Amino acid sequence: MLRLSTSAGYALVLVAISSHFTSQLSAEEYLSGIKWGKPPIVKPGDRCGDAPADATVLFNGKDLSNWTNGDRWTIEEGVIVSGKGAMTSHEEFGDCQLHIEWSTPTEIVGSGQGRGNSGVFMMGIYEIQVLDSYENETYADGQAGSIYKQTPPMVNVTRPPGEWNVYDIFWTTPKFKEDGSLESPAYVTLVHNGVLLLNHFALLGDTPFHRPPQYNKHPDQGPISLQDHGNPLRFRNIWARPLVPVSREQVREPFLRDGDKETPIKK
Ligand code: MG
Repeated sequence: MLRLSTSAGYALVLVAISSHFTSQLSAEEYLSGIKWGKPPIVKPGDRCGDAPADATVLFNGKDLSNWTNGDRWTIEEGVIVSGKGAMTSHEEFGDCQLHIEWSTPTEIVGSGQGRGNSGVFMMGIYEIQVLDSYENETYADGQAGSIYKQTPPMVNVTRPPGEWNVYDIFWTTPKFKEDGSLESPAYVTLVHNGVLLLNHFALLGDTPFHRPPQYNKHPDQGPISLQDHGNPLRFRNIWARPLVPVSREQVREPFLRDGDKETPIKK
């Protein structure tokens, strides 16, 4: 075994430290060659969950004028109570962030899929299940936070009936080729009551009850729909905002810069 005197050991440590800092203090800098746009300033909501300044408020506790079929749903004490037929937003969205809060009936009626069932349909097509999944057995890919008939959520964090649940949904639209075939699937990330349920899940297509999922070409934007499944659910604080990456332009190849010296990075 190699034994070093104490002074030799200190010397080795000093050499190691100085070589570390030499590499850290290198004047060479990596530059990507990308000219980035400037991220716009957005005023966030006063509290977490409040609409930021760049969001479209789809329900603010007052009226349902932003929704088709809103006249068949009702507002009680500042929250929506689901009515007859789906309610669909006038505004359409592509890639977006959607915040929506929901509560299943305090009085438990029915079981499984018949208990506190609704759904958030992205682009009016793809259902993120809303269900009273608090101590309520049903098939895993049909419980709250599932993509209906495609995947269960990773965990069940549904609050008891009558309490408020919060969905934060991050949506990427599917892309289609000219001939109608799929170029890239829809992706969804879902946070329920602050807990991640779905992490960039790639959808297999639409979400019907009676057949396998499939994609059918549709426009880049679509509405938000809330399902009427015969149960009186409540909704509040609904807003959505488009997801727009900052612009980027590759103005030159990536390179290293050291003073006046520029060295292209070989691929
Ligand atoms: Mg449903």
